[in-house]
Amino acid sequence: VQAIESRRVVLCAGATATPGILLRSGIGPRRSVERLGVDVVMDLPAVGARLLDHPGVAIFLWPRRGLHQSMRDPLIQTVLRYTSKRSALKNDMILQPGSLVPLPFLSRPLPLVSIMCSVGKPRGHGTIEYTSADPRSQPRIESRLLVDDEDRRRAVEAMRLAADVATSAPLRGQASFFWPPGRVVASDARLAAWIGRLCDSGYHPCGSVPMGADDARDDVAATDGRGRVRGIEGLWVADASLMPTIPSANTNLTTIMMGERFGEWMKTGEM
Ligand SMILES: Cc1cc2nc3c(=O)[nH]c(=O)nc-3n(C[C@H](O)[C@H](O)[C@H](O)COP(=O)(O)OP(=O)(O)OC[C@H]3O[C@@H](n4cnc5c(N)ncnc54)[C@H](O)[C@@H]3O)c2cc1C
Repeated sequence: VQAIESRRVVLCAGATATPGILLRSGIGPRRSVERLGVDVVMDLPAVGARLLDHPGVAIFLWPRRGLHQSMRDPLIQTVLRYTSKRSALKNDMILQPGSLVPLPFLSRPLPLVSIMCSVGKPRGHGTIEYTSADPRSQPRIESRLLVDDEDRRRAVEAMRLAADVATSAPLRGQASFFWPPGRVVASDARLAAWIGRLCDSGYHPCGSVPMGADDARDDVAATDGRGRVRGIEGLWVADASLMPTIPSANTNLTTIMMGERFGEWMKTGEM
């Protein structure tokens, strides 16, 4: 163990690890810190209160011989964002053609392509908890993907749109429907049940140490608008944990933008 003293500490361990480091350091909801057997340094209810993600499902297509690309091609090369019916938020949905996605339950990979459907602005969210102060311990994550009825409804709508695209005239000769089975796609109720069992993470965890305005409630914001951890001098967060809501697009670019911005602030002394 090595102790390094610094005037300024910037945490950027990502949305699952950053809240763990804070909790082990005594910063977070009092009960969560105490459960680790750690002294409370700052009671911050918003740390780890929510874990945001893009819940997703996919349809899989069997491409005609010769059309299929190799594993070396980028998985995602284009994306369609659209606004779901009744949505108050624009472009709340994401459809992405996937060049090749192996189905996890098949013993050998089939050369399938996919259309992945994600809810870009979900109402639901997951939670993240740490149960041990051991820095090697893994968090317990309750993803709660598509548990929210409205999120599930939008996912059904997206799957139907994806199925329409997959069976449209331009694609018909290129690829045939493989999965889910036709009888599932034919009924909204069956599709909703199927989605409930088979939806998965969009691999976009964020929002576990949210930033917020200075007057935001302490269960809503753990840092100020510049990533300064509330009530602690010299401690910043600068990663996807900070996102107060999830962007309705894949999160890497937004995170890179945040890194650039924080880098600028460090250079100009604004941080
Ligand atoms: C499988 C997968 C696929 C993805 N695909 C896409 C995509 O196609 N497009 C897109 O836009 N986004 C994608 N994302 C999301 C994107 O990668 C993340 O939003 C982004 O990387 C978040 O950046 P970050 O800096 O917050 O965290 P990270 O990129 O996770 O960086 C955190 C870093 O901290 C390190 N770290 C953690 N704990 C410690 C510790 N205790 N000590 C020292 N170092 C530590 C980690 O090793 C890591 O290097 C994908 C994510 C995954 C997991």
